[in-house]
Amino acid sequence: MEISIERVRSSKLSQTDLTNIPFGRVFTDHMFVMDYKDGTWQNAKIEGVRSLPIHPANLTLHYGQSIFEGMKASKNADGVPLLFRPEMHAARMNASAERMCMPTIDPELFVEAIRQLVYIEKNWIPNMAGSALYIRPFMFATDEFLGVAPSETYKFIIMTLPVAPYYSKPVKLFASTQYIRAAKGGVGEAKTAGNYAASLLASKQARDKGFDQVLWLDGREFKYAQEVGTMNIFFVIDGVVITPPTDGAILKGITRDSFLRILEDRGYKVEERPISMDEVFAAHQDGKLNEVFGSGTAAVAVDVMQIGYRDQSIELKPSTDSLAQMLKNEINGIRNGQVSDKFGWIEPVLEVEIV
Ligand SMILES: *Cc1c(COP(=O)(O)O)cnc(C)c1O
Repeated sequence: MEISIERVRSSKLSQTDLTNIPFGRVFTDHMFVMDYKDGTWQNAKIEGVRSLPIHPANLTLHYGQSIFEGMKASKNADGVPLLFRPEMHAARMNASAERMCMPTIDPELFVEAIRQLVYIEKNWIPNMAGSALYIRPFMFATDEFLGVAPSETYKFIIMTLPVAPYYSKPVKLFASTQYIRAAKGGVGEAKTAGNYAASLLASKQARDKGFDQVLWLDGREFKYAQEVGTMNIFFVIDGVVITPPTDGAILKGITRDSFLRILEDRGYKVEERPISMDEVFAAHQDGKLNEVFGSGTAAVAVDVMQIGYRDQSIELKPSTDSLAQMLKNEINGIRNGQVSDKFGWIEPVLEVEIV
């Protein structure tokens, strides 16, 4: 499919201070948009970011058929934008689409749309080390119909946002035994809007108790760790790296997968298996809980400094020579071209044919 391009007359870039950008509020000039109707994707175009008219009966507003992705384009020393595992994001977007009865997108078109948009917006990637262009592809239902049924029309949009280096201070986690994020058979594996709305109250409760984020537990026994806020979770016990298996209730993080690949490549002992809070607390008691950290695109790795569970709490001392730090340096190095891309994860946006 050909992507038509209508550039804005004047860019907002010169009026934007890229050294001081609040996350999520500053958008680049253009977005990619395409429509699904009559059983096919059509009208692929890149145009100026603008508001969309919305009918009050829009299906997404009522029944939540909406999914998204989150990824980043970084720059190497020559200023070439680099995408990180874009095909894997395309595959996950399609897995989310299938779970929510939404149409899939040809992965090649998904990646090409991102390449063209990033190419057009490449001057928006801040120069500071660690900063990037955050890429937000998303899809939502557009039928005007108050019936619980899959929409017949959809919009797919990609927005890009400049982001400052994400400085992540260690976090305190509250393991909720009141609320859950997902259970097997639900939609926990899909990056779908409702999962995040459903998490807000538990997050508020965690903050009210003096913690930063929720450590989600299984919905059956409130015993096994699932993930953290919008990150996957890793425990290091006596040198062994343990992360819960993605068994249907856990988002399949691309950072999580990358960490596992790097750790295995470097000969670490890695286990994907259920891990209970009792095991974590006992390991801490025995002095064997080396590290706990979260993984996600935004911050790459975040150290955990405290976990509260029922009436207990444990504290950890994040160190600078941790596995979390090694993994973060490795991924950031691959992302800015300073560490060799031995896994073939990087796709440079070198020459893009713009029609
Ligand atoms: C996006 C997300 C993650 C992390 O996925 P990455 O691909 O590593 O960014 C983890 N958990 C949830 C709930 C998420 O939405």
